[in-house]
Amino acid sequence: AEPRPHSASGEGTAERDLAELAPPARSARRWTPKRVVVTPAALDEPHGQRIVARVEALGIEVERLTANRLTGVRGETDRETYARAKSTLAVVVSPPSKRRLQPISPSADWRVDLAEGCPAHCQYCYLAGSLSGPPVTRVYADLDDILANLTSYAGTGEVTSRSAARRHEGTTFEASCYSDPLALDHLTGSWQRAVEHFGAWDAPVQLRWTTKFADVDRFVALDHRGRTRVRFSVNCLPVTRRWEGGTSTLEQRLDAVRRLALADYPVGLTIAPIMPLEDWRDHYGELLELVGRAVDDVADLDLTAELITHRFTAGSKEVLTGWYPRTTLEMDEARRSVKRGKFGTTKHVYPREVMAELRGWFTTALAERVPACRVLYWT
Ligand code: SF4
Repeated sequence: AEPRPHSASGEGTAERDLAELAPPARSARRWTPKRVVVTPAALDEPHGQRIVARVEALGIEVERLTANRLTGVRGETDRETYARAKSTLAVVVSPPSKRRLQPISPSADWRVDLAEGCPAHCQYCYLAGSLSGPPVTRVYADLDDILANLTSYAGTGEVTSRSAARRHEGTTFEASCYSDPLALDHLTGSWQRAVEHFGAWDAPVQLRWTTKFADVDRFVALDHRGRTRVRFSVNCLPVTRRWEGGTSTLEQRLDAVRRLALADYPVGLTIAPIMPLEDWRDHYGELLELVGRAVDDVADLDLTAELITHRFTAGSKEVLTGWYPRTTLEMDEARRSVKRGKFGTTKHVYPREVMAELRGWFTTALAERVPACRVLYWT
């Protein structure tokens, strides 16, 4: 089936986009980059022009680069490079390799990237070690082509064909593997357009993403047709407050879950990274109580949970300890077991007995405290 032309990508929508730049209703956190650059190739793309108009309407200057290469991000020290890169937004065209989608089990059938990089400062960030170079946030100007390219993937994919519990979702596309959508959408409008694209697509498909931001005002009234599942990445308060710099608070994220659920979106929790801190049962118990309270009167709630324990690799540890040299996050190989991946990769995960204890507790506690919630997977 063909997706219908993107309803919002035609004429006359620039005004609508710009009218939506009002400050968020419930003081959800919004990132203001210090430097925004656009490449010549990105400026040739309609969506590149839309992003530039949007950013300039927010009063942020946009630097037009003369070549398609990003320069001026490295500082004198690693710290300076990190700070500069994390406060830079680059509007670029995505690499051609992105047109061949990669499978992304167990989360979804396919990964689709609308951006790469994130302005937040989580000290366990899963992007560390996955992306190379300074952590600049790059947003893709060729959005219309990226969305059009998905057409041939409808009806394919292992995750939803193998899982009876998920077959009704159709082919699933994960749009947050290398970024955080709600940290960026106020600057780009890309995920908003993607929601409308999936809403208008006449085929069994689902768009999904996970976020640590709560800026959902622009999404509430979209014609999503239930084809986008927004999951909020949540953790117990000690983890959130200590190690998730620059993100929305837990309370704001849970308010956002509630608002989207009331707007008939399928929603989800990505409880990650789960850590057996001291008194973890109490802390995660409190988290589940807060979740339960946020959604307990939502009619026809469609809520899932993905449960992911903390892990690290030699590469991610090296990058993270460079970015956050004083971190108190435990990344001690001696306290972990080694898990070998398909391509010879090794991850440091919690030992089997710790995993079993965590898993058992979460399964029971979720069923008791948030009974409507369906667990999709544990890892
Ligand atoms: Fe990394 Fe996600 Fe935190 Fe962004 S919000 S810094 S992508 S873990």
